[in-house]
Amino acid sequence: MRLIGAVTVTLFGLGFVAAVLTAKSRPGSTPWGWFGLLLLPGVLYVTWLEIFGLDRYTRGMAALVEAAHGIASGDLTRPIPVIKGSMMTELGDALEDMRCQLGEQRQENLTLNATLEDQVRKRTMALEVLSAVAMGLNQSLDLSVILHNALKALLRIFGGQVAAIFLTDAARARVTLAAHSQLPEEALPSLEQGLIGEGLVGKVAAGERTTVWQAPVPGAVAGGEAPDGDWLARGSRVAGLQSAVFVTMKSKGRNVGVLAIGTRAHRDFTGGELGVLFAVASEVGVAVDHAQLHAQVKELASRDSVTGLLNHGEFFRRLRREVVRATTLRKKLSVLMLDVDEFKRFNDTYGHLSGDAALRDLGRELRASVREEDLVARYGGEEFAVIAPDTDAEQGLEMARRVRDRVATIGQLLALPTVSIGVATFPEDGTTTEDLVHSADYRLYKAKESGRNRVVGAG
Ligand code: GH3
Ligand code: MG
Ligand code: MG
Repeated sequence: MRLIGAVTVTLFGLGFVAAVLTAKSRPGSTPWGWFGLLLLPGVLYVTWLEIFGLDRYTRGMAALVEAAHGIASGDLTRPIPVIKGSMMTELGDALEDMRCQLGEQRQENLTLNATLEDQVRKRTMALEVLSAVAMGLNQSLDLSVILHNALKALLRIFGGQVAAIFLTDAARARVTLAAHSQLPEEALPSLEQGLIGEGLVGKVAAGERTTVWQAPVPGAVAGGEAPDGDWLARGSRVAGLQSAVFVTMKSKGRNVGVLAIGTRAHRDFTGGELGVLFAVASEVGVAVDHAQLHAQVKELASRDSVTGLLNHGEFFRRLRREVVRATTLRKKLSVLMLDVDEFKRFNDTYGHLSGDAALRDLGRELRASVREEDLVARYGGEEFAVIAPDTDAEQGLEMARRVRDRVATIGQLLALPTVSIGVATFPEDGTTTEDLVHSADYRLYKAKESGRNRVVGAG
């Protein structure tokens, strides 16, 4: 366009100069003929420009304006058309650059947004699960329920393939695998327990540190270079773990165990993930502590303080449970009622403190002369009771004789009194707790009547 303007102005100029020179050299002649002659091509050119050139220019501009509107409305997909004509080409190029840059920036923003959204989603989910964990954990005082819920939450938050919870047993200086999810059977023997302070989990259990443990080389199995004898390393090798993280669980400043997450593919745990794991560990730690305390209190409340045997209330609770079980499974069940012979005389002779010690010794001998699954209780005073599941009348009688014999034999050595025993069996002697106890009691009375240090059963 600049060229067109220059040519037009030059032609006008030349026409004007030629007219003036002609007027001077030939007086009387009219200069406007020459001027008009030279002006004609200029006028023709301008007319052509007006009709064709400006039209092309206008169309080019219109295309660029439309493209600019497209960019403004956010459509960055259409390339800017290439318009011939120096200024418009430059403008077109500039618009195209702008479109490309905006496109790149938008892509970057989209990627960043996606990353942030992902992080927010993960964090929100972790917080939701965490609050659900806290609520779920607080709703139960049953240790196995708490451990189960904690494992579920760990796997949900971290998407790890393996989760495990170890509990410390301070009295035995050990840390023991209490619950796990998806650890292979063959890894369990190596992972079952270790000493507090030794090995990876032992150290975390001692509260020395929180460990993020990675396989030495990506692709190698974690623990490959761990020291010999590291029980956890052995187990993890068997389980094929690549990465694991161990966090101490604490409650009121006391270490109660270790939470562990393991993955079979190499994984870097982020700071955010570790933060969530610490929060879960502290929730689970408190819940485990409460459950253990609750279990201890419950256990204490169900025991007789002198002999350590089940107390009267617990005897009836367990007997009811066993009667239901025997009824459902159509099993036999025997109940033994024991009474110490002439215990009043024993007290009178040796004193009540010796009487208490004798009751403790009798309880211990009684426990030692029955099976693990039999339940032994101090019914009250100098009376004891045994619940023997899956035991028929004959076996019950045999059990009672064994108890009597043992007490009599050891009693001679330890100067203990003898016992009399009555035996009743479900269902023939009674189908309720009361009937069974009543029947065994009646036979006990018969044993006393027939001379003490005796056993009386059916028939
Ligand atoms: P029997 O052979 O007929 O059962 O005679 P017994 O003397 O054992 O029977 P009795 O019911 O007359 O006396 C029970 C005694 O047991 C009375 C009580 O002092 C004693 N006794 C009950 N509980 C305890 C206890 O916890 N400690 C002590 N030292 N004695 C107890
Ligand atoms: Mg008595
Ligand atoms: Mg007695």
